[in-house]
Amino acid sequence: MKITADAQPAIFVDRDGTLIEEVNFLCRVEDLRLFPYTAEAIEKLKAAGFLIIVVTNQSGIGRSIYDEAAMQSIHDAIQAALAGAIDGFYHCPHLPCDGCECRKPRIGMIDLACSDFNIDLGRSWMIGDKAIDVETGINAGIKSAMVMTGYGRTHSAELETTPAIMSENLLAAALRIIATLPSSPQPQPAEAAP
Ligand SMILES: [Mg+2]
Ligand SMILES: [Zn+2]
Repeated sequence: MKITADAQPAIFVDRDGTLIEEVNFLCRVEDLRLFPYTAEAIEKLKAAGFLIIVVTNQSGIGRSIYDEAAMQSIHDAIQAALAGAIDGFYHCPHLPCDGCECRKPRIGMIDLACSDFNIDLGRSWMIGDKAIDVETGINAGIKSAMVMTGYGRTHSAELETTPAIMSENLLAAALRIIATLPSSPQPQPAEAAP
């Protein structure tokens, strides 16, 4: 992939337990709960210039617990709640035993997003609540932020590599990521007239 001047950094964000509350095999819109701070976190990241790309393992499809249409209805409801702020949704429908290239911690979904968008991976982040999310960031060569919502608390104990950021939740992670950005250049004071 060629990085051009207008390449944008991306936030690759896990869905369940990170962007929304963890519900085992979520497939009914009535069970969907965004965190109270999700919209603010996404708004701030977009204002800082990031694309927002959801990358989610949805093996419930491979297990025939729900279908693609049910998952799509969840994604439509998330988009509606966030005023269309998500730039892309990528999901892996496969089972862990399928050996596909897209199931996290593999990076097939990130590769696919990079072919759909002009992404500067060097400035991109992966945010998630599971050890596999952190591993996905490592495998993609990008920085990771782990949140303590969802499986975060139990999975933070299983980590083999410490992510760049460990935060209470998505908003705290967003603020810390934004704080790492170089601040915009200060305007130079006008020279005093001779
Ligand atoms: Mg998750
Ligand atoms: Zn897959």
